[in-house]
Formats: sequence, C-alpha cells, structure tokens
Amino acid sequence: MSLSGKTAFITGAGSGIGRAACQILSRDGANIIAADINVKNAQETLQLIEKPDKTNMAVSLNVSESTSVKTALKQVLETYNQPPSIIVNCAGITRDNFLLKLSEENFQEVMDVNLKGTFLVTQTFCNAIVEHKVTKGSVVNIASVVGKNGNIGQANYAASKAGVEVLTKTAAKELGREGIRVNAILPGFITTPMTELVPDKLKEMFANKIPLSRFGTPEEIAEVISFLASDKSSYITGASIDVNGGLIST
Ligand code: NAP
Repeated sequence: MSLSGKTAFITGAGSGIGRAACQILSRDGANIIAADINVKNAQETLQLIEKPDKTNMAVSLNVSESTSVKTALKQVLETYNQPPSIIVNCAGITRDNFLLKLSEENFQEVMDVNLKGTFLVTQTFCNAIVEHKVTKGSVVNIASVVGKNGNIGQANYAASKAGVEVLTKTAAKELGREGIRVNAILPGFITTPMTELVPDKLKEMFANKIPLSRFGTPEEIAEVISFLASDKSSYITGASIDVNGGLIST
C-alpha cells in the first residue's frame, strides 16, 4: 500500500473532504490523526475507518489559534513520539456575501481559518518535521477554483484561497531542501455540507458550466490527496492541481 508506515495529520477531518481523506488515506495504509474544531465529528470519522492494526487518534483543533495548533502537536508527539510526515490542510469555512455588504468580521473570520490556519498548521508541523528529522514530508493544502478567478459573493473566500495557493508555492520553495514537498489541490464544486449552503439556482448554473456535467465527490478529492501524500508524486512540489470536472471559470 502506498502510505504504509506513514502517519497523516488531517484538519477539517470531521466532515466532507477531510473525512473522505481520512478514509482513503487509511485505506492506503496510513495511520490517521483526525483533527477538527468539533472533536466529536472527528471521532465519528475514526469510527468509519477504524482498523485494528492502525494507530489512529482524534484531536480537537482550532486552526486559527496558534496555541491550539501547538497543543495539538504536543498531543500528537505524546502518542507517536514523532511528528506525522503527511499534513493535509482541509479545514475551511465560507461566510458569503456581496462585497458591498460583507462585514469586516466575516472577512477576517474566513482569512483566519482558511489562510492563517493553513499557515499556522504548516509552520508548526513542518518545524517539528525538521527538528525530528522526519524524511519525505508532504503537505497538501486545499485551495479552490474560485481562488483563480474570483466568485460573486465570495470576495473573502476567493482571496483566502488565492492566498493558500501562493503560500503553497512559497512553502515548496523554502521546504524543498528539508525534503518536504508542498502542493495544493484546487477543487471545483464538491458535494459536501459546505456546498449544501449554495442556493439551488446557483448550483444549476455552475453544473451547466462543468464539462463532466456533475459536481465532484469528496472521495474524488481524497484520491488526489493520497497521491500527493505518497511517494508516487515524489518529484511534484509547488504544484496546483485542478480537480474540477473541467470547470474553467466560476
Ligand atoms: P466541510 O464539510 O464544511 O468541512 C470543513 C470542516 O472543517 C468541518 O468539519 C469544520 O467544522 C472544520 N472547521 C471549520 N473551522 C475550523 C477550524 N477553525 N479549525 C478546525 N476545523 C475547522 O467543507 P468541505 O467542503 O469538506 O471543505 C474542505 C476544504 O475544501 C475547505 O478548505 C474548503 O474551502 C475546500 N473546498 C471545498 C469545495 C467544495 O465544493 N466543497 C471546493 C473547493 C474547496 P464545523 O463543521 O464544526 O465548522
């Protein structure tokens, strides 16, 4: 199996893409650390994937708070004695509104979780990877198709995801010498609790723009996460991979 002997730390593990990533990476042989702001949901994820021969754990984590990220790392080190070599930044939120109506609070909240959260988790865990001399690190960040072209009602979200993409490219340049690869996946429309919030009329409009004529599944993103986490992608770093059914522009 492509991830045998590896351990993966996955944020946003209580739902949607993060939950599917836990399931697929476990299927591919990794130990799973499921981290979420709602630890009960992360525990539920573990119940879906529990394998008797694996050391899995659930961790309570608010990615936007550095103390919470440091505490999570401490808990992980207590259990595994070394940091995970795979970090998957899946935690994310939307607070949609038209630009002229978007509150400063909703702008900041989205930046704090999506962009600052990806930074804090990447910095904290990669420092630990370097300190513990863990080899073949792989960070997978979940950006978005809307970070490339913008999207009506999502100035905050689109800007945060554009930030995640260039954060990824910068991290790849800095961390390559440490043997850590850093890549981003840019999902299109994926059926998860996050997209349940999108009005049906808009969903129909987007579906018409997708050459494969349907939304994606969380598992279709998770398969690419597993590829980027594994040695099968050993010469890929700083890449942004579109997984969007052919959707060119939102
Ligand atoms: P989701 O089902 O809402 O899952 C997101 C998870 O992150 C939830 O469990 C959520 O917990 C958790 N979370 C929220 N704030 C957090 C925080 N501060 N710290 C730790 N965990 C937190 O969404 P999803 O669709 O799977 O999205 C996963 C990632 O893919 C996100 O980064 C999203 O932006 C990105 N993405 C999704 C799509 C799509 O179409 N679905 C497209 C492009 C990109 P609560 O539920 O308790 O808030």
